[in-house]
Amino acid sequence: MTRNRREHLFVETDGQVYLVQDRGVWRFPRGSEKVPFEVDESGRMDFGDDLVVRAKPRLSYHPEEWFNRDDLFSRSDVDGLVKKAVYMTMPRLVAEAAIVRGHDVLMVKAKRGFSRGYWNLPGGFLDFGEPPDVAVEREVEEEIGADITLEGLLGVYHSGFPGKPTYTMGFVYRARTKDTTFRLKEDEIEAAEWFPVHKGLVLTRNPFVRWGLVDLFRQFDPPPFEVTRHGLLAKGKAWPRGPAVFLDRDGVINRGRPGYVRTPEHFELLEGAPEAIAGLTRAGYRIAIVSNQDAMGWKLIPERQLRRIHEKMIEGLAAAGARVEEIYVCPHHVLADCPCRKPRPGLLLAGARDLNADPAESWMVGDKVSDVAAGKAIGARTVFVGDATRRKRFAKDLRASPPDALAKDVREAAAAILGRS
Ligand SMILES: [Mg+2]
Repeated sequence: MTRNRREHLFVETDGQVYLVQDRGVWRFPRGSEKVPFEVDESGRMDFGDDLVVRAKPRLSYHPEEWFNRDDLFSRSDVDGLVKKAVYMTMPRLVAEAAIVRGHDVLMVKAKRGFSRGYWNLPGGFLDFGEPPDVAVEREVEEEIGADITLEGLLGVYHSGFPGKPTYTMGFVYRARTKDTTFRLKEDEIEAAEWFPVHKGLVLTRNPFVRWGLVDLFRQFDPPPFEVTRHGLLAKGKAWPRGPAVFLDRDGVINRGRPGYVRTPEHFELLEGAPEAIAGLTRAGYRIAIVSNQDAMGWKLIPERQLRRIHEKMIEGLAAAGARVEEIYVCPHHVLADCPCRKPRPGLLLAGARDLNADPAESWMVGDKVSDVAAGKAIGARTVFVGDATRRKRFAKDLRASPPDALAKDVREAAAAILGRS
């Protein structure tokens, strides 16, 4: 996709914007024009034919002589793109409610807008001058006619949306209600239903809903479901919130095998995998392995044999300096309706909870479309691992739900993660 786009430089510091005069009009310098100071790029805004590159200047003083961003709008000698870009830098603000009943959360299906046909938490944009806690109560009343009591903020999240130069900040609250029947706003909401968190996560495409539901899941004590762990986690260790990499096992760390890896002798680390994972460990990522083990579901491997396989894996990885915090296993087969079998996000939810992983900073790496789907469900970034043949085989699914990166193997996946975090 090569397009000749005009590039513009939007230099701003402390509310002051640098513009150049061109035939009586003040505009951004073009990407090709020299500016009389050094700049550091801080972001890109896509306006179709115009690409606006945001940059911070390296200056030793406050540039009083530049334009104050708020004064630009009333001037007739300022280029329209400048006004548009300054306007678009202002964050959009939304507030949403995770209304909880037991371990379920109330979700609404949208009839219009970005989320049309998808499930969401009830909520919406803040009105002018309205605080988020007031906005969320008003929005819930308007959308579903419910009276809610807020039980605290789950988080404040920040995200761009595809094809838009703007960023949105989302305040997601935990709430409860005594109402059991809901009056749906006719032109906006198609349905309202209760879902367990792991189901809600796969029904939405809203990153705030995903991150909010992961943070809600952390609060449930005890958790809504248990998963199978190897048992590496240090009991009672309090992790600060931070980034994690969730790794699929077969085809990523070790060679996959027809008829399953059933004994330690079958287990063969892929070349370069331990070193690549060690690089992620050194960069500060908490490593968790998340693996569907159908072979256990079909009773082809006893649990003690799986443990021996995993001990061999841990040893092989540790020899290169790779540290695995925990191994999470789905021991069910393909027909089971468990919360943990990928593409369902149960293993990643358990890992995010154990390791206090921030999903917005975390990654999922796998060689199946179901790995990508599980990563997306918790709002993590994703890497699909596979050679050209494998990518071609899954091309249609990967187009429908693209990962953030494609990689030949876990070495390339680690490079993509380290290059983009
Ligand atoms: Mg795999």
